[in-house]
Amino acid sequence: MSNNFKRENLPSGVEYFNTHGLALKGSGAWRDSVCFFHDDTKPSLRVKADSGAFRCMVCGEHGSSTLDLHMKRTGLSFVQAAKELGAWQA
Ligand SMILES: [Zn+2]
Repeated sequence: MSNNFKRENLPSGVEYFNTHGLALKGSGAWRDSVCFFHDDTKPSLRVKADSGAFRCMVCGEHGSSTLDLHMKRTGLSFVQAAKELGAWQA
Protein backbone atom coordinates (compact mmCIF):
# COMPACT_ATOMS: atom_id res chain seq x y z
CA MET A 1 0.00 0.00 0.00
CA SER A 2 1.18 3.49 -0.81
CA ASN A 3 2.62 5.75 1.85
CA ASN A 4 0.41 8.47 0.42
CA PHE A 5 -2.64 6.89 2.00
CA LYS A 6 -3.30 8.23 5.51
CA ARG A 7 -5.84 5.89 7.06
CA GLU A 8 -5.87 7.96 10.25
CA ASN A 9 -7.28 10.90 8.25
CA LEU A 10 -10.40 9.02 7.14
CA PRO A 11 -13.63 10.43 8.59
CA SER A 12 -15.51 8.41 11.17
CA GLY A 13 -18.75 6.78 10.15
CA VAL A 14 -20.73 9.55 11.84
CA GLU A 15 -18.63 12.27 10.19
CA TYR A 16 -19.01 10.65 6.78
CA PHE A 17 -22.80 10.56 6.96
CA ASN A 18 -22.97 14.14 8.28
CA THR A 19 -20.69 15.62 5.63
CA HIS A 20 -22.52 13.84 2.80
CA GLY A 21 -25.98 14.83 4.01
CA LEU A 22 -26.96 11.23 4.72
CA ALA A 23 -29.23 10.08 7.52
CA LEU A 24 -27.84 7.83 10.23
CA LYS A 25 -30.33 6.67 12.84
CA GLY A 26 -29.89 5.42 16.37
CA SER A 27 -27.13 5.74 18.91
CA GLY A 28 -24.35 3.59 20.23
CA ALA A 29 -21.56 1.77 18.44
CA TRP A 30 -23.69 0.59 15.50
CA ARG A 31 -26.13 2.91 13.70
CA ASP A 32 -28.78 2.31 11.02
CA SER A 33 -29.09 3.68 7.49
CA VAL A 34 -31.20 2.98 4.45
CA CYS A 35 -29.02 0.74 2.28
CA PHE A 36 -27.41 2.38 -0.77
CA PHE A 37 -26.89 -0.93 -2.53
CA HIS A 38 -30.37 -2.31 -2.97
CA ASP A 39 -33.90 -0.89 -3.23
CA ASP A 40 -34.32 -0.47 0.50
CA THR A 41 -37.55 0.56 2.23
CA LYS A 42 -36.27 0.56 5.80
CA PRO A 43 -32.87 1.06 7.41
CA SER A 44 -31.20 -2.27 6.66
CA LEU A 45 -27.61 -1.05 6.61
CA ARG A 46 -25.73 -1.31 9.89
CA VAL A 47 -22.90 1.24 10.17
CA LYS A 48 -20.23 1.38 12.85
CA ALA A 49 -20.09 4.91 14.31
CA ASP A 50 -16.30 5.08 14.63
CA SER A 51 -14.78 3.24 11.65
CA GLY A 52 -17.66 3.36 9.20
CA ALA A 53 -17.59 -0.42 8.83
CA PHE A 54 -20.91 -1.48 7.33
CA ARG A 55 -23.03 -4.49 6.52
CA CYS A 56 -26.47 -4.71 4.96
CA MET A 57 -28.74 -7.22 6.65
CA VAL A 58 -30.69 -7.73 3.38
CA CYS A 59 -28.29 -7.64 0.40
CA GLY A 60 -25.10 -8.51 2.31
CA GLU A 61 -23.01 -5.63 0.95
CA HIS A 62 -20.26 -4.87 3.43
CA GLY A 63 -16.93 -3.16 4.07
CA SER A 64 -14.57 -2.20 6.85
CA SER A 65 -14.20 1.58 6.63
CA THR A 66 -15.61 4.85 5.34
CA LEU A 67 -13.18 4.43 2.44
CA ASP A 68 -14.85 1.15 1.44
CA LEU A 69 -18.25 2.77 1.81
CA HIS A 70 -17.28 5.78 -0.32
CA MET A 71 -15.74 3.62 -3.05
CA LYS A 72 -18.82 1.39 -3.27
CA ARG A 73 -21.28 4.30 -3.16
CA THR A 74 -19.50 6.35 -5.82
CA GLY A 75 -17.61 3.82 -7.94
CA LEU A 76 -14.40 5.79 -7.41
CA SER A 77 -11.01 4.10 -7.35
CA PHE A 78 -9.13 3.64 -4.09
CA VAL A 79 -6.91 6.69 -4.71
CA GLN A 80 -9.77 8.92 -5.91
CA ALA A 81 -11.92 8.00 -2.93
CA ALA A 82 -9.05 8.54 -0.49
CA LYS A 83 -8.42 11.99 -2.02
CA GLU A 84 -12.07 12.98 -1.71
CA LEU A 85 -12.07 11.94 1.93
CA GLY A 86 -8.89 13.90 2.72
CA ALA A 87 -6.88 10.75 3.40
CA TRP A 88 -4.36 11.11 0.58
CA GLN A 89 -1.19 13.19 0.80
CA ALA A 90 0.69 13.67 -2.46
ZN1 LIG B 1 -28.54 -3.65 0.99
